[in-house]
Amino acid sequence: MGLGISQSSDDMLTQLGVTPVINAGGPNTKHSGSRPLPEVIDAMEAMAPIFVQMDEWLIAAGQEIARLVGAPAATITSGASGGLVVQAAAAISRGDAEVIERLPITDGAPNELIIQKNQRFPYDRLYLTPGARFVEVGDENGCTADEVEAAITDRTAGIIDLEAGPENPCDVPLTTLADVAHARDLPVLCDAASKLPPRSNLTRYLEEGADLVSFSGGKGMRGPQSTGMLLGRPEWVEYARLCNAPNATVARGLKVSKEEIAGLVAAVRKFVTVDEVAETAEYLRLMHELVEQVGEVPGVDSSVQRGEPYYVPHAVFRFNQSWAGPDNGEIGRRLMEGRPRIYLRHVHPSGRELSVDPLSIQPGEHEQVAKRLREELLLAAREN
Ligand SMILES: *Cc1c(COP(=O)(O)O)cnc(C)c1O
Repeated sequence: MGLGISQSSDDMLTQLGVTPVINAGGPNTKHSGSRPLPEVIDAMEAMAPIFVQMDEWLIAAGQEIARLVGAPAATITSGASGGLVVQAAAAISRGDAEVIERLPITDGAPNELIIQKNQRFPYDRLYLTPGARFVEVGDENGCTADEVEAAITDRTAGIIDLEAGPENPCDVPLTTLADVAHARDLPVLCDAASKLPPRSNLTRYLEEGADLVSFSGGKGMRGPQSTGMLLGRPEWVEYARLCNAPNATVARGLKVSKEEIAGLVAAVRKFVTVDEVAETAEYLRLMHELVEQVGEVPGVDSSVQRGEPYYVPHAVFRFNQSWAGPDNGEIGRRLMEGRPRIYLRHVHPSGRELSVDPLSIQPGEHEQVAKRLREELLLAAREN
């Protein structure tokens, strides 16, 4: 302030030469996630001048989150990613202080995590952070419960279950996986980071037998972008907490601030009270309006889609056979280079689909998104 620098974020971005982005692509970390709810910002601000003993605060906040979502126990992690790290650390150490202290050196402790080959995903390496290694089972086409069972040895620490995208008939169902794991006294470690909403998923995976389940706090829940919540059976949640920051463990770098913890609790409080039917209806209305505003474009089939893989209604723009223009990635790049800068989902593997996720679009931005998308699509439709 002595330098005459304003506190306003707009001013700060201008001074630093960073152009903000309209986020029409959903809560994607590289595009700075979701907009924290006003309740979340208020809770973080209220927490700023207060000091606490962090273990007490983490335990109390975890208990409150567990109560709110109806889970046996909960703790707070640095994103769902941090949750995966402490899930694995919990499975390896099972609360043994000497093992926790040694990680990522696992000498003598079981450190193998069984993972289905067709469930491999870019973030799964987080599970390896505390010194785990993967034992892959099945192939690209699927896996059987027998293959999982045959891979269990006395070096096995746990079994991973990825809940992402559509239900996959090739996966071993979670209930079966849990039966196999529990028969050998092993935990099922579940990554369900992006599976909220629906709110019913808050307890679904636990009911199906997962011992630990990670969700992102900064995606559909609109808590602080850096938070995650780890739900599960009380003993496993406690093992995970012992492996987590602020303790001097392998996860010490994954700390969550007292303010962010308050923000996550506020986000969960709000999330569980929102009427999901009304929320979905409003998203549907906004996305239909956007599709109408974009209007007809030669070679593009526009629709509003709801259901897997889009639980939250999306406006989807698909290039049909008469489209001779550039692929979705190029259109996405052009929208990011334009003014205003607009990010929308342009990573569909077919190369032929763009979609708009309503979660992070702010009031008043829908028209700008529709206008720019229409301009770029009409221009691109004339190229070949
Ligand atoms: C988003 C995501 C993560 C990472 O979650 P963060 O909260 O951003 O750390 C992990 N796994 C899956 C499947 C995800 O979709």
